[in-house]
Amino acid sequence: MGTDFYALLGVGRNATDDEIKRAYRKLARQLHPDANGGDVAAESRFKEVALAYETLRDPERRRRYDMFGPDGLRGAPGDGMDPGSIFGSGIGDIFDAFFGGGSAATSWSHQQSSARGEDAEVKLSIDFAEAVFGAKKQVRLRLAVVCDACGGRGARAGTAAARCPDCSGSGQVRQLRRTMLGQMVTASACPRCQGFGEVIPSPCPACSGDGRVRQDRSLDVDVPAGVDSGNTLRISGRGAAGLRGAPPGDLYVHLDVSPHPSFVRSGFDIEHVMHIPMTQAALGARLSIETLDGTEEIEVHPGTQSGTTIALKGRGIPHLRGHRRGNLIVRIIVDTPLQLTKTEEELLRRLARERSEEVPELHEGILSKLRSTRS
Ligand SMILES: [Zn+2]
Ligand SMILES: [Zn+2]
Repeated sequence: MGTDFYALLGVGRNATDDEIKRAYRKLARQLHPDANGGDVAAESRFKEVALAYETLRDPERRRRYDMFGPDGLRGAPGDGMDPGSIFGSGIGDIFDAFFGGGSAATSWSHQQSSARGEDAEVKLSIDFAEAVFGAKKQVRLRLAVVCDACGGRGARAGTAAARCPDCSGSGQVRQLRRTMLGQMVTASACPRCQGFGEVIPSPCPACSGDGRVRQDRSLDVDVPAGVDSGNTLRISGRGAAGLRGAPPGDLYVHLDVSPHPSFVRSGFDIEHVMHIPMTQAALGARLSIETLDGTEEIEVHPGTQSGTTIALKGRGIPHLRGHRRGNLIVRIIVDTPLQLTKTEEELLRRLARERSEEVPELHEGILSKLRSTRS
């Protein structure tokens, strides 16, 4: 694995966190699978770039990478990403591919990945405004948490774990095997201690030596501004606790956004249909409209046609990355009056004559009959 993460991101080895972040964002936009219609080469570069960024953005992982290269990261404790959320589930797969099981992984890292806590999933319903502006929410779920009684070590209070006699604490047992290619030494997880390197003579009664117990938990979830239904937040390290102090899994929060009574989302824009009478459409008007940011005025120009749209810039949905917001698109529908008083009808007929527009002459009797069938 000779890949140079700095070269992948196009930054120098002394790049600041900010430079690394900027370089990653730029590349991610270019290479994101959604932007490349399933181009396999772009997708695999996207994954490489994402891995490089996830490594270099974390000071500890970056330090290990600088000292040992990509191999310095494999199986090291605390490989779970920093608390924080990212979108999609692709990154986790990449990390698993690099750090988890796989033919090149040692038995030790295999043990680490199997002791790691399971990922947890939960559904979270939020309303339209929370999706637009972001929100702090809580989710409740039942999951394995670190056992308080033993602090996750698995040993009964006052006792300690002991070095495993079978593997002398290495967690591995080695076997010499004859194969077609000659003698091979294979290492596998020690069956007695399951690779932990320690045995627990007196297990903690609260967790039976697992170092974790199942509990109902409330977790805070920071929903970023601009999310949509179907988005999934990944919160690193907030899944189930690992076995006997191993790293925790991740929490996946699936978002469900309830619809707004008068706004419809379209990408980063919000659409709103506004009905106005034909007099305002013809003569123009200043009208108030409720936006997500409060009441605003819009100008309807004289002679506005039905279907005209007016854009309120920056009153739409915030982009997930960056500070821009979409627009609020107001679609004007001109309402034709349904029921006319006698005076209104006379005025409209006068208007029609003035504009030489032909309208059928109706007797009073027919008009009132029409009115009664429509109402
Ligand atoms: Zn315990
Ligand atoms: Zn052992």
